[in-house]
Amino acid sequence: MSSLTTLYGLSKEDVQSALRGIGVAEKQLRMRQSQLWHWIYFRGTTSFDDMTNMSLDLREKLKQHFTLERPSIVTEQISVDGTRKWLMGLTPQGPREKSPEIECVYIPESDRGTLCISSQIGCTLNCSFCHTGTQRLLRNLTAGEILGQILLAKDRIGDWPDGEAEDKTGLPSSERKITNIVLMGMGEPLYNFENVKTAMQLAMDGDGLAFSRRRITLSTSGLVPEIQRCGDEINVMLAISLHGVRDELRDILVPINKKYPIKELLNACRNYPGVSNARRITFEYVMLKDLNDSLTDARELVRLLAGIPAKINLIPFNPWPGSPYECSDWEQIERFAEIVNKAGYASPVRTPRGRDIMAACGQLKSLSEKLRASEVLDDPIKAVAGEV
Ligand code: SAH
Ligand code: SF4
Repeated sequence: MSSLTTLYGLSKEDVQSALRGIGVAEKQLRMRQSQLWHWIYFRGTTSFDDMTNMSLDLREKLKQHFTLERPSIVTEQISVDGTRKWLMGLTPQGPREKSPEIECVYIPESDRGTLCISSQIGCTLNCSFCHTGTQRLLRNLTAGEILGQILLAKDRIGDWPDGEAEDKTGLPSSERKITNIVLMGMGEPLYNFENVKTAMQLAMDGDGLAFSRRRITLSTSGLVPEIQRCGDEINVMLAISLHGVRDELRDILVPINKKYPIKELLNACRNYPGVSNARRITFEYVMLKDLNDSLTDARELVRLLAGIPAKINLIPFNPWPGSPYECSDWEQIERFAEIVNKAGYASPVRTPRGRDIMAACGQLKSLSEKLRASEVLDDPIKAVAGEV
C-alpha cells in the first residue's frame, strides 16, 4: 500500500473534511462525499478513474491525495469446502514496523456467508488455548484496516454488483455472499474500541456497507467495563468467550478473568443494552479434554446462564503446534451438548470448517512466519497447507 490517505474507514464528516482539504467547494461537500461512498461501499470501486460522475479534474486531485487500495494478499487458501483464508499484508506504520500481517477467514454456507475479521495484530491477553495469545501485540488496527478486510474479501469472492469470483467453490446462493461479520479473528476488539466502533458504524451505515447490526457479532474475552460501552455505542451482537465455569479454571484459560471474574462478567451480560430473547448473547465454550468438559461443568454452565437470554456455542478445540491441550472426545462433546440442549438451548456444535487449510485462530500467520524464517516459503499456499 502507498503513503496516500486511505479514503475508506473514514466517517462521512472526515471524508468531507478531506475533500475540503483538496479544495472541493463547501456546497459540494455532501454531494461529493455521498457519490464517493456509493462508489466505495456499494460498487466496490478501487480506481478513481471509474468514478464517471466526477469531473476529470476532481478525479485527478483525488488520485494525487487518496487511495482505495486494499491490504495486499500474502496468501490465499481455498478449502475444498469453500472456506477461504487470507493472510493480509498491511502498510507498516513507521520505519520500525516490518510487514504487519493479519488473517481473515470466510466461511460460506448454502444460504449465507460469514466473514471473520481481526481487530489487532497479535493480542495482549494470553489465553492459554489460543495461538494468537502466544504472539505479542504489535498494534491496534486502524478503522480502515478493519474495514479493508471486508472490502478485500468482497473483491475476492465477487460480492459487488459487477463482481465475479475467480474461484466460486462453495459460495452461497444468497444475493450477498457475505451476510454476517464476526469479530473473532486476531485480537481483543474491545481493547481497540474507537477504531472497531468507527469501522462497524461504516459497516452498518445504510450508505456504507449496509450490514444489519443483528448480523455483526463482536466476540470479547470479557472486558467488563467496555461491554456496557459496546452496547451503548456500537450496539452489535455480543459473544463472550466463557470457556470455563469456575474461576480457578477460567483464570488459567482466559487470564483476564482474574480482573473480571465470572460473576461480574455475567452481571455485565445481564445488563447488556438491548439484550432480549430476540437478541441473545452467544457464549463461546471451547471443548478441552478433561479440563472443562465434564457433565458437572455442563450443568454448572446451564445454572450460571439462567436468566440471561443466551445461545451457547460449543467449539471443538483446534490444536496448534505445541498447544498444551487436546480437544474433547466427540462422544463427550455430545453428552455435554445434550445437557445444554435439554436446558432449552439450541447449542449447535460448531463444525470445524476449512480443516485442510487450518482455518483456526492464529495458525496461518505463525506457520507462515516460521516457514519464511527457514526460507522454504517459495510457494506460500502449498507451504502453509502443509505440502512442503
Ligand atoms: N479476543 C476475542 C476475539 C477473538 S478470539 C475473544 O477472545 O473473544 C475468537 C474466538 O476463538 C474466541 O472464543 C476464542 O476463545 C476462540 N479460540 C481461540 N483459539 C482457539 C482454538 N485453538 N480452538 C478453538 N477456538 C479458539
Ligand atoms: Fe486474545 Fe481472544 Fe486469543 Fe484470548 S482468545 S488471546 S483474547 S484473541
